Amino acid sequence: MIEIQENIPLASWTTLGVGGNAMYFAVAFAEDEVREALEFVQRRNVPFFVLGGGSNLLVSDRGFPGLVLRIAIGGIEPRQESSGVVFRAGAGVEWDSLVERTVAANCAGLECLSGIPGSVGGTPVQNVGAYGQEVASSIVRVEGVEIASARKVAFSREECGFHYRHSRFNQQDAGRYILTFVEYALRPGGEPQLAYTDLKRHFADTLAAGARPSLAEVRQGVLEIRRRKGMVFDENDPDSHSAGSFFKNPVVSREEYARIAATSTVPVPHYDAPEGRIKLAAAWLIEQSGISRGFALGPAAVSGKHTLALTNRGGATATDIVRLKEHVEAQVLGRFGVQLQPEPVLLGF
Ligand SMILES: Cc1cc2nc3c(=O)[nH]c(=O)nc-3n(C[C@H](O)[C@H](O)[C@H](O)COP(=O)(O)OP(=O)(O)OC[C@H]3O[C@@H](n4cnc5c(N)ncnc54)[C@H](O)[C@@H]3O)c2cc1C
Repeated sequence: MIEIQENIPLASWTTLGVGGNAMYFAVAFAEDEVREALEFVQRRNVPFFVLGGGSNLLVSDRGFPGLVLRIAIGGIEPRQESSGVVFRAGAGVEWDSLVERTVAANCAGLECLSGIPGSVGGTPVQNVGAYGQEVASSIVRVEGVEIASARKVAFSREECGFHYRHSRFNQQDAGRYILTFVEYALRPGGEPQLAYTDLKRHFADTLAAGARPSLAEVRQGVLEIRRRKGMVFDENDPDSHSAGSFFKNPVVSREEYARIAATSTVPVPHYDAPEGRIKLAAAWLIEQSGISRGFALGPAAVSGKHTLALTNRGGATATDIVRLKEHVEAQVLGRFGVQLQPEPVLLGF
């Protein structure tokens, strides 16, 4: 029987550590408990929110006037298939423990995603990515329960509609499903992905000697680089008390890019994006708008190690974080005419 608690502070369930109470709160360890929670929501006729690791979440100071259900479905099961090894994981598995396990099994495909906080179930939602890798290239199946009908559902990779920080689960179907299991197809004995400049630089000596780092070495390299940037959640590192990158890299038309480039005396970093569009670097736009690392408004501050992360330096409220967010957005809009979009999910606003 699932235990439903009342008036539970949500701040401690998130990496930003801000926000008010959930009117109701429960933890589901199995699919049956997910269904029980849905029955409760129907009986009480209250709103519903699915919580993973709370690492991509900004909860309002008012909290949430409904049931917050934390998904804790566990289990990691590898199986051999003709195409490689498929790892099936419960949505509540801590993401990095899955990555660690796949690397230990010498299976390639998730190594660059080492050290990202949160749960397995959170990864398809925004198509988690880092250092040139995204879960979109390994996910082969996502299972869940439809909230309205309590019906089981399953999606193939193609049906997930993955793009940059984008899937059906945070777009047209946001709030429609509780994800329960995810399957990742990995390459046993495969080469690690070394596409990203930071990573290539980290292994410059190895690469110059004509060698390739192993999957385990790439995982360690990614963890080191991420720690230096405050991008591994660590109680003792205030720069990591964030929701990761707070702003998405803006994707603009070629005309828009040309307009922005014309306003800058220095080259504007940019990358090709699908459909002939151009991806800009949000961190660069922010820095060029006069906001540097460590910039603070009260107890909310831009990370001292990474311009894209907004952090709680201790005792911040959601209102403080929103004030900083709005300040950063206004500076970039004023300087470049670009409206930044937040990456984390905003709950209870
Ligand atoms: C220090 C730090 C570094 C980060 N670095 C990166 C990075 O490099 N790349 C990157 O992409 N992200 C990064 N993030 C953001 C975050 O870690 C990821 O987005 C992560 O996948 C979120 O998972 P979560 O379980 O914490 O989701 P939550 O924050 O709990 O929830 C986020 C959204 O997903 C939904 N959700 C979560 N679980 C489920 C489920 N089982 N079923 C249905 N919906 C669900 C929630 O309803 C919510 O809408 C970082 C965050 C921090 C704090």
